[in-house]
Amino acid sequence: MNFINNILEKLIAGRWIAGSNIDDVLEEAKAINKHNISAILNYLGEDITDENKIAETINVYKDLIDKIYEKRINADISIKPTQIGARINNTFLEKNYLYLIKYANSKNVFVWLDMEDHDVVDSTIKLYKKGLKYTNNIGICIQSNLKRSINDLNHLPRNSIIRIVKGAYAVDDKIGYNSKAKVNNNYKLLIKYLFENMGRFVVATHDIKMIEYAKSLNKKYKKNVSYAFLKGIMNEYAKELANSKKVSMYVPFGDQWIQYSYRRMREAGHISLILKSLMRNQKI
Ligand SMILES: Cc1cc2nc3c(=O)[nH]c(=O)nc-3n(C[C@H](O)[C@H](O)[C@H](O)COP(=O)(O)OP(=O)(O)OC[C@H]3O[C@@H](n4cnc5c(N)ncnc54)[C@H](O)[C@@H]3O)c2cc1C
Repeated sequence: MNFINNILEKLIAGRWIAGSNIDDVLEEAKAINKHNISAILNYLGEDITDENKIAETINVYKDLIDKIYEKRINADISIKPTQIGARINNTFLEKNYLYLIKYANSKNVFVWLDMEDHDVVDSTIKLYKKGLKYTNNIGICIQSNLKRSINDLNHLPRNSIIRIVKGAYAVDDKIGYNSKAKVNNNYKLLIKYLFENMGRFVVATHDIKMIEYAKSLNKKYKKNVSYAFLKGIMNEYAKELANSKKVSMYVPFGDQWIQYSYRRMREAGHISLILKSLMRNQKI
């Protein structure tokens, strides 16, 4: 079973995922850094309800933070709330999050909060605001497929550091946008809001029109904006962009690759794009 898992992982997920362990992801981060791109490292896993597994996840992140620090790698980490307790209870989640951000801060490692399903958005935002009482070395992701996001931005402190994405989780029409056009319109609106109101943010998309839009706004607003990509989708474009702009690349690792890969395949949209993305030389 392990053997089959390994082959499938290499065949399907290899483009998007660095490997199964910390050494794999650090090698990838070093390769990325050579192109003037910083890394955002995520240990795969979500919706965890087993406390032992959560403790193991926290240890992996601690180990990762230590090694980023020791090896002087240019990398942030990105955590999913549901991998550190959001599916158990908010007190447990908060304890784990605060522990990790304080630990990371002591080693000068920046911590992102991934944004997941709509039912954990409230607790994720609350967590982030709580974290800001202890450190500014943290950021949060906001999704344009949710109708609430403009209001969420409006209620975040102005010194928040935001990663703006279109959103990878299914939403129903009551709370979200399902058409590409509406998600894109809202993405533009949120980008504009960030330029007008916030100081530092990351435009995380493979949509070149959105990147161009942000670049054009920055001529006027001159904010601390950077651009971020997922590993394996537009590596060549990212490398090119890194010649003139601040760029980072999100790199997951670990053996829980199925859900993450499923989302990437769904986004590729049709089989030809999936095949193209799998065949293209995505070596960084
Ligand atoms: C750095 C980073 C961090 C992210 N963090 C989160 C998060 O915390 N929470 C969350 O919900 N989402 C997150 N996402 C995912 C995001 O929400 C989108 O699901 C994903 O980026 C696809 O949307 P897009 O912005 O690239 O635009 P799209 O309009 O979907 O795609 C733009 C173009 O990119 C190409 N493309 C997109 N995906 C693929 C693919 N898999 N294979 C081949 N081509 C593709 C398409 O050809 C399309 O033309 C993150 C994305 C990035 C880049």
